[in-house]
Amino acid sequence: MRYAEVSVNSPIAQRQTFSYSLPPGLGIDIGQAVWVPFGDKLFQGVVLELSPHPAVEETREIAGVIEPRPLLSPAHVQLARWISRYYLSPIFDAVALMLPPGFERRPLTFISARAVPGDFDLSTLTPEQRRVLGFIKGQERVSLKRVEKALGKKKAQGVVAQLVRRGLVIRSYELEPIKAGPKIEPFIKLIVTADEARNEAAGLHKRAKKQADMLEFLAKQGGPVPWAEARKNINSNKAVADALVSKGMAAFEQVEVRRDPLALQKVTPTQPLTPTDAQRSALGAIKSGLSGGRGGVFLLHGVTGSGKTEVYLQALAETVKMGRRGIVLVPEIALTPQTIERFAARFPGRVAVLHSQLSLGEQFDEWQRIRDGNFDVVIGPRSAAFAPQPDLGLIVIDEEHEWTYKQPDKSPRYHTRHVALKLAELVGVVVVLGSATPDVESYYRAQQGDYKLLQLPGRVTPRDGTPLPQVEVVDMREELKAGVRSLFSRSLSEAISQAVTSDEQVILFLNRRGAATFIQCRSCGFVLRCRRCDVPLTYHLDQDRLVCHQCNHHTPVPQACPRCARRSLKFLGLGTQKLEQEAGYNFPTARLLRWDTDVTRGRHSHDEILSKFRRHQADILIGTQMVAKGLDLPLVTLVGVVSADTALNLPDFRAGERTFQLLSQVAGRAGRGVKGGKVIIQTYTPEHYAIQAAASHDYDAFYNKEVEYRLELRNPPFSRLACLTYSHTNDLLCQREAGRMKRSLSQEIDSKGIAAIEIIGPAPAFIHRLRGRFRWQLILRGSELSAFLDPVPLPQGWVVDIDPVGLS
Ligand code: ADP
Ligand code: ZN
Repeated sequence: MRYAEVSVNSPIAQRQTFSYSLPPGLGIDIGQAVWVPFGDKLFQGVVLELSPHPAVEETREIAGVIEPRPLLSPAHVQLARWISRYYLSPIFDAVALMLPPGFERRPLTFISARAVPGDFDLSTLTPEQRRVLGFIKGQERVSLKRVEKALGKKKAQGVVAQLVRRGLVIRSYELEPIKAGPKIEPFIKLIVTADEARNEAAGLHKRAKKQADMLEFLAKQGGPVPWAEARKNINSNKAVADALVSKGMAAFEQVEVRRDPLALQKVTPTQPLTPTDAQRSALGAIKSGLSGGRGGVFLLHGVTGSGKTEVYLQALAETVKMGRRGIVLVPEIALTPQTIERFAARFPGRVAVLHSQLSLGEQFDEWQRIRDGNFDVVIGPRSAAFAPQPDLGLIVIDEEHEWTYKQPDKSPRYHTRHVALKLAELVGVVVVLGSATPDVESYYRAQQGDYKLLQLPGRVTPRDGTPLPQVEVVDMREELKAGVRSLFSRSLSEAISQAVTSDEQVILFLNRRGAATFIQCRSCGFVLRCRRCDVPLTYHLDQDRLVCHQCNHHTPVPQACPRCARRSLKFLGLGTQKLEQEAGYNFPTARLLRWDTDVTRGRHSHDEILSKFRRHQADILIGTQMVAKGLDLPLVTLVGVVSADTALNLPDFRAGERTFQLLSQVAGRAGRGVKGGKVIIQTYTPEHYAIQAAASHDYDAFYNKEVEYRLELRNPPFSRLACLTYSHTNDLLCQREAGRMKRSLSQEIDSKGIAAIEIIGPAPAFIHRLRGRFRWQLILRGSELSAFLDPVPLPQGWVVDIDPVGLS
């Protein structure tokens, strides 16, 4: 083996690897990180293949090894190659997913002296060459930077190159240190005693209330507190603190904080619960998969609260018993603290949690510790799928239907589930996909027999067989007829008042994501849709027209509803802020709490909001889909869906599925305690199958209808999609390029005689303008799309998304 195929960390490399020869005496393995010359610079690379022959005639030599141990396992190398091929991404982008965080750094060059041959005539050296040799004499190595400082950059490099050529000096390389250090946070503390502070506060009360409050707050703390916390608690600003500092009462200090918002150390260990019959049979199937050693995919379908997590925990325990390890994927760490805690409690000290709040340095250390086999279980979002967990035996994907599993806006645009399944296939491990509302494609695969379907039909808490909450669907058209103009129907209004007076809690859900405005008739519920594509039309303010985002058909805005002819068309687009305001008017005594991305910009806000609500410091929680996640809140007896229509009317073929998922998840929040619960769904289209099915907790009813539609329109799972987006600052140019690409792709399809690929569009993207650039899209529908697109040259400005989810 004298040659290596290397994936080079340069944007020029794209989907190619490059051949290098191995320097004599340098042991190199597959998966090893190396330095390679590329152009006139040195780059990082990872060896993907070794062979006795080079792929090209002339090769350069690998310059050095970055780390003695290979960073990628052979399976990860194969996975990276597959990701690059399937998602049409640069190969190093795929490789980088599996490298330790913070790996991508520049090299530092060092030089050291070689033994000078006895017959060497030193007088043939220039004074500068001799000067450089003088620097390194007696040293093991010297950084090139030092020489550059002394001689100037250009000169230093030239002289060193001469010395290397003459065999007097050798170069070696090392990664520059990781830049992101530990996290430092300002803390504030008293520098007088608590009593002195209280005395001072008493004096300050009249003149400087905030300062007094701050002193009293600090006196209570018994030590330094994070400034952010102090500030928030008494609602003050920096000037208040500065005043206390200059009075010699308080001081700031910089404290290094370890980012462990989950406080895993504090959990109390738990024991496995005795499984219910349904759990027992699911576990039996998974265990036989584990002991078979050949892997297998299980789809665990169980309503919220049916005990899926307990099944994951016991399946993991079984994996560990067999001397293997597990990876658990969750949609978002910040939103699932309770789930994480349960894993940490079952495997005390043996769980690694990957999350972005760790500094780069901490993530790097954690990666190394995982690779050394320190953890039975690694939990995390998307990136955890690539954790270097040795002896992997089981991958769990919780809430497998969640769209956050798809990497949205960065290459490679991979789907975690797809990638995890591929990895499992490569190394022969078991995968458990869990959900209350499985992705239609996953359920279809289970129906086809590709996955084994495991069902947990009922809730286990408060006791086995607890019914799911009762769901009432309110027809908002009827409300309007009855003269109700509020956001709250009579039924919801009454239920909220009742819950609040009985000291119970309420969740109000409004899915306001996406700027999509749809146009609906308030009288008959009709939504304006494209005649050709059947997707809701979007209103474009700049043109004052309705546009189909699938085929680009334009129509003027009608004066009256095309169905009932009344002049009651409404442009809909209501947000959570407005909802909060309205709730304030309607329920003046209730304590409100809003939870959406606008209020969670800060670090711990998710936790803060959630624990505030859990401690019953608020009666009504108002939020977007965050409130739908796996929260277990026993005091919540009422969940109100303010409008079920927002997600339903997005111009996306998955709108029905999305709506069903959201409604089911939100409904699952009610009645987790002994008091039971109720769900009220407000809608203008109560007859829609997704709403009907969610109301009766009937996944099969939803699935059967949905699959029928998918088949009819040949949408996934009956095809695959690829979304090609072109962006440019000039809209017309953008449209033209999209048209040109369509013609060129059509020709390719014709000339190759491919019947199974159709091209939809060009049309403006759902997000037509993004950061000053216009965007146009082509959608390809068919099979083997990656293979078809692989040889097609894509000019700059194009982005390919294979298996897109949602609208972009
Ligand atoms: P899911 O993950 O399906 O939402 P969980 O695993 O969170 O369901 O279970 C819901 C609740 O039921 C949790 O409080 C859990 O502790 C409890 N639970 C699960 N399985 C059992 C069991 N076999 N016996 C008793 N309680 C259980
Ligand atoms: Zn259309």
